[in-house]
Amino acid sequence: MTSADRDISTTVEAKSLTDAASAQRTSSGRTAPDGSRAALLAFDASVFLSTLVERDEISGTDQRLALEVARQSGVSPLRAIVDLGVISEEALADLLAGAMGAARWRAKESRGFISDRAPRAFQRSASLLLLEDEAGAADGASDAHTLVVADPSDRRNVRAVFQICDHAHIAVAIGAASDIHAALDAEENEDRAETAPDASAPIDVTGELSALRDMASEAPVIRFFNQTIERALDLGASDVHVERYDRAPSLRLRVDGFLVEQPPPPDALFEALLCRIKILASLDISQRRKAQDGRIRLRLRGRMVDLRVSLIPTMYGQDAAIRIQDRKKLSGVGLQDLGFFDEQSAWLDRIARKSHGIVLITGPTGSGKTTTLYALLNRLAAVDRKIITVEDPVEFAMAGVNQIQVNTETGLGFATALRHVLRHDPDVILVGEIRDAETAQMAFQAALTGHMVLSTLHTNDAPGTFIRLIEMGVEPYLVTAAVAGATAQRLLRKICCACSNEAGARASCDTCAGLGYKGRVAVMELAEMSTAVKRALGDAADERQVREALLAEGYAPMREMAQRLVEAGVTDNAEVARALGASAIEQEP
Ligand SMILES: [Zn+2]
Repeated sequence: MTSADRDISTTVEAKSLTDAASAQRTSSGRTAPDGSRAALLAFDASVFLSTLVERDEISGTDQRLALEVARQSGVSPLRAIVDLGVISEEALADLLAGAMGAARWRAKESRGFISDRAPRAFQRSASLLLLEDEAGAADGASDAHTLVVADPSDRRNVRAVFQICDHAHIAVAIGAASDIHAALDAEENEDRAETAPDASAPIDVTGELSALRDMASEAPVIRFFNQTIERALDLGASDVHVERYDRAPSLRLRVDGFLVEQPPPPDALFEALLCRIKILASLDISQRRKAQDGRIRLRLRGRMVDLRVSLIPTMYGQDAAIRIQDRKKLSGVGLQDLGFFDEQSAWLDRIARKSHGIVLITGPTGSGKTTTLYALLNRLAAVDRKIITVEDPVEFAMAGVNQIQVNTETGLGFATALRHVLRHDPDVILVGEIRDAETAQMAFQAALTGHMVLSTLHTNDAPGTFIRLIEMGVEPYLVTAAVAGATAQRLLRKICCACSNEAGARASCDTCAGLGYKGRVAVMELAEMSTAVKRALGDAADERQVREALLAEGYAPMREMAQRLVEAGVTDNAEVARALGASAIEQEP
């Protein structure tokens, strides 16, 4: 055992949370390498969250919210629970290490150095570190490694590391993502200081690059790329993913929130295809180690298509993600798809006539919140008011609206931007998202000084929004004074009109790629601030009381609205159960 191992293993002695973790320990108390590897590969984020609820580390509501956000947006539940502000990165790392019987790694105590076996750029994008043991490296037989991960549920990347270090001894440790990035940054700075400025130059030899560039401009690659985008447009896909899974090329389209496998590009074309994407997006084709973002405007079938391209380094080279920005659609949902019922439309009109207050659009990522925000903005813009938005990112340019892009790297966060905005005397302010107490405070200040403020928040339902604000540290009296109302929404897939006959023959439908659904509709619920709601909030800030007050005043829960869409034949029960969760159905009174 090396000094580094000892250092790491002693920090976790007292922290084992589960019997399983204890069983993985050897008699010496050190984590067995195979055990930790197995523990890592068997890690289940939902089970882990349930353990935290049992131990009272987080509430059941937080757990459901994190799982919901994860399910809807595709991020891991662990990432969601940190992003939601339920738990800090550091605290999560402590709990994970304890639960898995793994070592707890901290940058400032780290002994080993970063291994070259996995590309740095990959380690960065996957938020993991592969450390080489100091002692092992010194005697030239560096076979002992420590894998530090921030998110053990990231199986794809973890497996990739185990694959390349096939015969090496790998200990597993848990570190906070920011700490992992700090270690990578520190090393990079050291490298930069030590080596000639040329060291960052592209690795490719010029000949290889120009061959790739030539190939990228040849018919097979052009045809494959264009056909892929056309197929994506046909299916109404929002994203195209060109990537490698376990070394083999893969092509997937995101259609109505679901990833659909497509025939992949031949291995021989893969690099040229990535090269073509970079050329079209005016990106550096020699750069394979850094993430790059760009845009492509393409004329296909006589119409202009805007693509937002993002390339990230991975274990096997690079992945490309292409977002299709259809001007007719916002966030994959058109304004016409919002499915407002009459009373909801009337509510939005009523809100649009208000001079001040906060309106919150809530729902998980990918629930079409942005579309609803813009729909509301459209109504407000019609009333001739000065509108300023603070967004991250600015998704769509709107005529007559000043849009400010938040940039956290330069220190222009939501709160700072909002402070600037208030000096410009706007009537309406759109704040992309209320993420923290400081932004919440600024938003409330703006609303209480005569501005209309629109924003989004992560909550499960509309009534829960009022409570969530109080939990974020906003005083209950400010919530009742400033909030005009809240909406919550989800997206439901619509039954495919082309193949939804009674026979249900769907497998070969070209319109919906055999999924049975085509397009989406937003289902929404509204909670308006009223005297009764204010009373419920002021009394105990109890969610059940708030809900009862709302129900007495005609609040229609989302599942009820969803049922109306099922009755209208727009969607079906299976889809409602999927999008709203089975519990939403069971709760039916
Ligand atoms: Zn169909």
